[in-house]
Amino acid sequence: MNFYSLNNPSEKVSFKEATIKGQAPDRGLYFPEHIPVLSDDFIKNIDTNSREEVAFQVIQPYTDGSLPEDELYRIIAETINFDFPLVKVTDRISSLELFHGPTLAFKDVGARFMSRCLGYFVKDNDQPVTVLVATSGDTGGAVANGFHGVEGVNVVILYPSGKVSSVQELQLTTLGKNITALEVNGSFDDCQQMVKEAFADTALNQELFLTSANSINVARWLPQQFYYFFAWQQWEDKDHPPVISVPSGNFGNICAGLLAHRSGLPVQHFIAACNANAVVPAYLQTGEYTPRQAIATLSNAMDVGNPSNFVRVLEIFDREFHSLKKVLTSYSISDEQTKETLRDVYAKSHYLTDPHGAVGYRALNTYLTTQDTAQPGSPSIAPGQKGIFLETAHPVKFYDTVEPVIGEPIPLPAAVSAILGKEKQSKKIDAQYSQLKDFLLSR
Ligand SMILES: *Cc1c(COP(=O)(O)O)cnc(C)c1O
Repeated sequence: MNFYSLNNPSEKVSFKEATIKGQAPDRGLYFPEHIPVLSDDFIKNIDTNSREEVAFQVIQPYTDGSLPEDELYRIIAETINFDFPLVKVTDRISSLELFHGPTLAFKDVGARFMSRCLGYFVKDNDQPVTVLVATSGDTGGAVANGFHGVEGVNVVILYPSGKVSSVQELQLTTLGKNITALEVNGSFDDCQQMVKEAFADTALNQELFLTSANSINVARWLPQQFYYFFAWQQWEDKDHPPVISVPSGNFGNICAGLLAHRSGLPVQHFIAACNANAVVPAYLQTGEYTPRQAIATLSNAMDVGNPSNFVRVLEIFDREFHSLKKVLTSYSISDEQTKETLRDVYAKSHYLTDPHGAVGYRALNTYLTTQDTAQPGSPSIAPGQKGIFLETAHPVKFYDTVEPVIGEPIPLPAAVSAILGKEKQSKKIDAQYSQLKDFLLSR
């Protein structure tokens, strides 16, 4: 399959090229030429397939022509070698736990898939590829872990010194091998600026084969469809599909769910659960899309003021505002409501969410309650619906927020206790592009 640039539909590339480039030269996001439709039979009998087979059926049309089937199968098996349980929290609300991967957040799926695709695409190159990435916390760990040990690929991660949580820092700095962490004496914006300068530096790009691993890459975006199908495998009441609530920042995750729905995945309705960064909730209310500066919140992986994947959401709906509104509702949840939800769900249902999951739970509950109490006879109202929220990270990643709210410590999962004893290895640099450049050229 080919992918076109959303800035220019005649600019088409293969899956391989889209993965290597990340973004079209005109800075447009890549989008699939057509959206495959899965057979009714596959959807109905999804329980009879293994997770690997399901993932293969979902993504093979997209990678066709770029990846041989046996390679794709291997990449899938390595990508999803952990659990995706659907856990009942109340009679009507279940949690799709996406935190059982190595860095305890859903980004593991996209990062593991992308790293292996890139490793395959560059394996015959003479020159290694350098993946350069700036992180405010979660992305860096997932990318570092995903690429760890992948032949022919070096990863350089820039993170702001003292501004990521201690668990996140250890996830970035204790891997070694082909992963280098640069601890920047500055902010996340400084890190991002330095990375941008590196990509724009013609002389540097003649010396090094540089690429990025950010979330707009199709090889990170498309595999995020997998776990929506895994949720459907585990969904008991196949006659009444779930409402699905997705904690959203850059809108890559929910965009993958909407794409899966377009391919035939049964979903009653989608909820984009946002924090105080309410650009999309406002858009769905008013039809006006107004990007803003991001506001800092407790669910900081969703502090995005101009969601980069929203153009893809619009494209899935052929830019028809009314068709989008039929499928998607969005709420903005405050930090106060996030804490209240975290505390209440833990007290009443003995289920601990992280701040992002709490936003997802709250938005889902708001929607279900609204549906129950709406005027009878209003169109598209159905009381008694059930739903799923995506639990996008393990609460321990945000223990500094979660522990004071529930008033007790969070038990450490094995993935965290394993890295706690390890020694941090980072190279400190100042927030000056020349220092990054010197480092890259010195290797
Ligand atoms: C990245 C992230 C999100 C937001 O996902 P998007 O695809 O950017 O919408 C939500 N929760 C957690 C824990 C994250 O790390």
